[in-house]
Amino acid sequence: MISATRLLFTTFCLTVLAFSSFAQTDPEAPIRVTFLHVNDVYQFMPVEGGKRGGHARLLTIRKQAEAENAHVLFTLGGDTLSPSVETRTYKGAQMIDAWNAIGLDYSVLGNHEFDISTEELLKRIEESEFTWLGANVIEAESGKPFADLPEFVIREFEGVKIGIIGLLLPETKETSSMDDSLKVTDYCLAANLIVSRLRKVEKVDAVVGLTHLFMEQDKKAAGCADFDLILGGHEHSLLQSSANGTPIFKMTADAREVGKFNLNFDRQTKRLTGIDWEIIPVTDEIPDDPEFAPIVAKYKDLLDRLSVPVGATSVTLNALSVANRTNETNIGNFIADAYREAVDADIGFVNGGSIRADLTYNPGPLTKRDVLSMLPFNNPIVKVEVTGAVLKEIVEHGVARSAEDSEPGRFPQISGMTFRFDASRPARNRVIELKVAGQDVVANKTYTIATSDFLVSRGGDGYTMFARGNVVSGAEGAPRDSEVFEDAIKSAPNATISPKLENRIVREN
Ligand SMILES: [Zn+2]
Repeated sequence: MISATRLLFTTFCLTVLAFSSFAQTDPEAPIRVTFLHVNDVYQFMPVEGGKRGGHARLLTIRKQAEAENAHVLFTLGGDTLSPSVETRTYKGAQMIDAWNAIGLDYSVLGNHEFDISTEELLKRIEESEFTWLGANVIEAESGKPFADLPEFVIREFEGVKIGIIGLLLPETKETSSMDDSLKVTDYCLAANLIVSRLRKVEKVDAVVGLTHLFMEQDKKAAGCADFDLILGGHEHSLLQSSANGTPIFKMTADAREVGKFNLNFDRQTKRLTGIDWEIIPVTDEIPDDPEFAPIVAKYKDLLDRLSVPVGATSVTLNALSVANRTNETNIGNFIADAYREAVDADIGFVNGGSIRADLTYNPGPLTKRDVLSMLPFNNPIVKVEVTGAVLKEIVEHGVARSAEDSEPGRFPQISGMTFRFDASRPARNRVIELKVAGQDVVANKTYTIATSDFLVSRGGDGYTMFARGNVVSGAEGAPRDSEVFEDAIKSAPNATISPKLENRIVREN
């Protein structure tokens, strides 16, 4: 998320390189090292209906940069192996193939790299033809760097030495399935120690931080160590900032842009004299490099299945996790309606945490990939009959962490029902008003609920009260969540959906 203090920018800027017309061999010309940077790239095919991103275009950009300057490094600011529809099948191996094909040089570990098992992650690192960094990720017992990753790397170009270090988000432990045997240490301390060593012992001419941190943490890191440039990730927005004289950049997720940074060094003294940068939008005007085609061919079957259009949306769909776990969303309404209609229940009930993707979808076509990205779990949709009293408990449970957690997965998206709650009241006593079909819920009346079997038979997200209901239609032979969703899109007029916010849920505090 972007805060107001973080400056969003859209094009490019800064000092024109004074010597750019001179050849590299000119004694007056600076030695130039070009960094190309992307972050949070979850698929190698273009996004936004083919308009933005895509590794075949990244390879074109890389080759263009190499034609201008022999000294090019391509960096990734972490988060690539998960989550994605492909990763359910290939556990991130598809992204390693893609990065290898475009000649990625360095990636920092992102928190989502730890969504897959450590065993799988170690295999992915093994398969990588580039170097992973993460100076503050250690094996808890031995204190040694995770996977024997280097604490830093030094690259030399015509006598200019550049040190690169990687730093990972401290929250990784809580927000991914990182193994208990691993630990994320203080990034500030790690940066301070390693950068001092790079400067004083290794005598590098510049230090680049490759980070996967929140912007506020990047700013702090810039005060902990003497970086010349921080290339980051984690936020999915185009951001630039600076702290302690260090410029900090992140690109929009899925390689919608490439950041191009030219570090210029004095040919004699090897001193860094300036950094020029440009943000290159990765659009369909950039041709695909044909050398990437074998990767697309390798995964063609799955990609073909995922790219099948199922319909369209005329409005922006809000599939952001934080939205679906805190408030009514338009996509939550649509999915809850679809569940309710699929099994002909009074109420549709969706735990917000089951709506994934963590993206907004702009008006335009929707594909099978989009459907599976939003509902990846393949849960059966069942119908349960409960009393009004149990229904009240269910809704109270749904908002019982709304003040305590920032993104409680249990938060409900609903259909056929409305409620008002006050998150400042004690848990289990927050629902002020609860109506089904416009009528107040009556404690001893019965109501039918369409929901995921995950909540009913497994008490998922703590919804154990469903077990006190009667299952009217169970998981056996039930339609799956994504099928129900897809069918609802297809059966909309012109297969085009336009879900709205309808004050189904009114949140106070
Ligand atoms: Zn991240």
